[in-house]
Amino acid sequence: MKSELLLVLVLSLCVSSKPLSKKRTYNKLLVISFDGFRWDYDQDVDTPNLDALVKEGVKAKYINPPAITMTSPSHFTTITGRWIQDHGVVHNLMFNSSTGLIIPHKRTLTKSEWWDNGVLPLWITAQNQGLKTASFFYPGGGVNYSGQAVDRSFVQSYGHPYDNDTEWRQNIDTVMRWYSEEDFHFVTLYYGEPDNVGHVKGPETTERRKIIEQIDRLIGYLRKAIEKNGLTDRLNVLITSDHGMTTVKKSPGFEEILLSKYMRFLNLSEFELLDYGGFGMITPKEGKEQEIYDALKNAHPNLKVYKKEEIPGQFYIAKNQRIQPIVLFADLGFNLNSRIILYINKGDHGFSNHEMDMKMIFRAFGPDLKKNFLAEPFDSVSIYPLMCKLLGVTPEPNNGSLSDTTGMIVEAFDAGGRIKLPFTLLTLMIIILTVI
Ligand SMILES: [Zn+2]
Repeated sequence: MKSELLLVLVLSLCVSSKPLSKKRTYNKLLVISFDGFRWDYDQDVDTPNLDALVKEGVKAKYINPPAITMTSPSHFTTITGRWIQDHGVVHNLMFNSSTGLIIPHKRTLTKSEWWDNGVLPLWITAQNQGLKTASFFYPGGGVNYSGQAVDRSFVQSYGHPYDNDTEWRQNIDTVMRWYSEEDFHFVTLYYGEPDNVGHVKGPETTERRKIIEQIDRLIGYLRKAIEKNGLTDRLNVLITSDHGMTTVKKSPGFEEILLSKYMRFLNLSEFELLDYGGFGMITPKEGKEQEIYDALKNAHPNLKVYKKEEIPGQFYIAKNQRIQPIVLFADLGFNLNSRIILYINKGDHGFSNHEMDMKMIFRAFGPDLKKNFLAEPFDSVSIYPLMCKLLGVTPEPNNGSLSDTTGMIVEAFDAGGRIKLPFTLLTLMIIILTVI
């Protein structure tokens, strides 16, 4: 009898061990990005649903965007886990400094040549490993990478309303159907608020606070929708952003930066990307680099000028051919105006990622994530390895670090605790050994 049972044990080890590891199923993942959701936007307004997530999930006090705190560069860092100099999406605008071509942000969303620079975003990597993925308005989701498209992609059109909460809820419903009826594994969902209201009205306004309340209600709706669709135990959710927002500093209180006061564009500059917040670039005419540099170096107390080769390495932007020979950063709240001051935004971003006003939100909840867990701040580049781990996807080479986020994941995850079989190998062994 004893030998028969031992035989069963040995056989079960041989038969079960291999298929068990193969059959591990990973939960689905939803990543929601609220554009321009500064890390502290929930602190001056009532947000019961976001507050509940603190208890029922993971909160990082804040996370750090990459050095160019703009929508496309930052979103693409999140979805690739690469620094801006590696993925090459260095601006919201697509440009060609030789031809002078500049394409506005919305039109770049379908231009593969702007996004596809040899680095694969997670949608494509996950698809190549057998998963079904979708991008709902997420920047970079609407183009081809090495000829491959995202399985399903919705691209935000011109004039799309940013703050329609009926549409916001419909988009949640659509995504829930993708998971429950069509077995999608990974979806990125993008909302254009609170960025829009932050620009138009300013971050410290009643209008911004109202949008945060609207977002909070949407989070409540999302949680009910997850439950209604039977996804509570099968779907992990990350909520994040791409940058923060700060109030624009204008005259008469501040001396605005007007670059034409210090240099003659016509004589010195071949091409420039300016008048777009606090980050800008200039392509000098041949032999004029030093002249521009000298003219701007000490021109304004709130202006920082770098030659490309002087850009600090920890910005992780310099080693890309799209970065032009002269790079300008304005101090927090100052715009880089070229010839006239046209800028009408009350709030803006694009400033140093060290500024607290540029930091962004991070929340996470779901079956594989701890409850009531406060994470230390980390770089957004580390969201990528976390997403890969949760999905069971082998990551592409990336600049993120799993050690930034590994504490958020429940211990059972690494023990393979979600193998959906009636008996695990361990239970079988215990039963047999008890009988013996
Ligand atoms: Zn943005």
